[in-house]
Amino acid sequence: MSTLKRVYMDHAAGKPVDSRVAEAMLPYMKTFYGNPSSLHQFGQEARKALEDARTKIAELVNAERKESIIFTSGATESNNMAIKGVANRNKDRGTRIITSSIEHMSVVNTCKFLTTKGFEAVFLPVDNYGFVKLESLEKELTDKTVLVSIVYANGEIGTIQPMKEISKIVHSKNAYLHVDATAACGQVPIDIKEEGIDLLTISSNGTYGPKGIGALYIKEGIRVEPLLHGGGQERGLRSGTENLPSIVGFGKAAEIAKNEMQPEGERLIRLRDRLIDGLLKPIPYSFLNGHPTRRLPDNVSVRYSFIEGESMLLSLDMMGVAASSGSACTAKTLEPSHVLLAIGLKHEEAHGSLMFTLGRQNTEEEVDYVVSLMPSIVKRLRAISPLTPKELNK
Ligand code: PMP
Repeated sequence: MSTLKRVYMDHAAGKPVDSRVAEAMLPYMKTFYGNPSSLHQFGQEARKALEDARTKIAELVNAERKESIIFTSGATESNNMAIKGVANRNKDRGTRIITSSIEHMSVVNTCKFLTTKGFEAVFLPVDNYGFVKLESLEKELTDKTVLVSIVYANGEIGTIQPMKEISKIVHSKNAYLHVDATAACGQVPIDIKEEGIDLLTISSNGTYGPKGIGALYIKEGIRVEPLLHGGGQERGLRSGTENLPSIVGFGKAAEIAKNEMQPEGERLIRLRDRLIDGLLKPIPYSFLNGHPTRRLPDNVSVRYSFIEGESMLLSLDMMGVAASSGSACTAKTLEPSHVLLAIGLKHEEAHGSLMFTLGRQNTEEEVDYVVSLMPSIVKRLRAISPLTPKELNK
């Protein structure tokens, strides 16, 4: 049997379900299986669990009322619902949508799709750290702008946007602000009221809940056209019998994330910075992607000149370490990540990037193991790369 260490550092692509969450879900598969819309006791038990979970998710992001939380099948659906739903239902206010050049594809492609339906989409530039250029936002915001959609923190480079400043600018022109908090929720405190967010995409798996469930916060009074029509569940905004076991799990995950966020965040930041230091200091021509401090506690994105992320990834995999060369959604293509290109990297720099995303189970010992592997991997790959300068291979 193999005694190879197995180290998982690809939490942005998928997180384990917390065992406390899995435990909380089980009774809702076997015992409390009623439909929350039914009037009998089975239904009422289910309804109570549904509303308790909604409350916990509202509390995680400081939403003013739990009714503002609508359950969806995940972040992709929430992003689609926010952008298409607001755009289609508020055409009378304008047809211009503004987003950034470092959004997840579920935002990028939704905005692009809307341009085929009479809307106009603007992709704002970002600086080298990945911060949205606020002067561009000011310039592009017109009276015809109905919605601005900006990611709270990009999952690939970890940069956390200055949401309060962004929302002030957006609201000065009476546009709505949608924020995709998939990578950030449960990791850093998000305060909808304080930060002036009108719609918020919340992920369950991002908070160590099950996959295939998510939520969209919609501020009271905002008109949104539903994506799905049917029995009128979720205040008519998202028809379909609720996925109760997953919703209960999501609620439990949100509760745990809220209670443990501060100490866990501090622990992850210590691990993150130890990993960044260990990956960069001993190796020449190595760089950090994103901002050194205003980044997600779990995110380490680095790049090494002259070699490719995929080769490093496979070498690490052979040593039992799971990392990533970019967003899991686009990692299968050979195209460099649009996020890395948007922060100003050349194609070959983007290709040389490697991303580690840490999680609850990672330890200092695991970080040190990864750090110990990297110099020889980089050295070996540089030795066979035609791009490596001769003096580096001496
Ligand atoms: N937004 C962001 C910022 C993401 O990182 C992801 C992927 N984890 C998504 C949206 C889409 O999430 P899902 O595939 O769970 O719908």
